[in-house]
Amino acid sequence: MTRIANYCAICGGLLVSRNTAGRMRPFCQRCETPVYFDPKVAVAVFITRAGRVLLIQRAADPGKGKWALPAGFVDYDEAPEAAAIRETREETNLQVHIGKLLAVFPKRDQGLADIVIAYAAEVLAGEARAGDDAAAVGWFAPNDLPPLVFTPSITLTGLWRQGKLEL
Ligand SMILES: [Zn+2]
Repeated sequence: MTRIANYCAICGGLLVSRNTAGRMRPFCQRCETPVYFDPKVAVAVFITRAGRVLLIQRAADPGKGKWALPAGFVDYDEAPEAAAIRETREETNLQVHIGKLLAVFPKRDQGLADIVIAYAAEVLAGEARAGDDAAAVGWFAPNDLPPLVFTPSITLTGLWRQGKLEL
């Protein structure tokens, strides 16, 4: 997704385009500050129980109505593992323990994140119940997966289905 900035977030000055640190970036002439756009980082969580994976049905676009791993954005000052715990609680009502780092995905689809960090996790407490931007939650067997959206969810459930995902 192209990033656009017209005004300086520090002083409100009009931004121009200037070559800074190797590429053209917005630059505020008033306070002489370049704007560095940072990647939006998200976390996704792969939780299994009794041979089934936990998926959420998306309540909004992109991917409205389709299913994906519980996921969400990492806040600017938040550890990725803490974001994974928080997002899982918000979307599924489950308390989880974050386990192994499974993969880091660069942007490959219409998802809102630029980088997705995926973790394995296990349930500590709670009953799965949809919340936040999840319309529904469900546990799915490998041979009975619903229509999926987003590269990390499709890739990881695909590997899991083939017995190639070590959790
Ligand atoms: Zn400025």
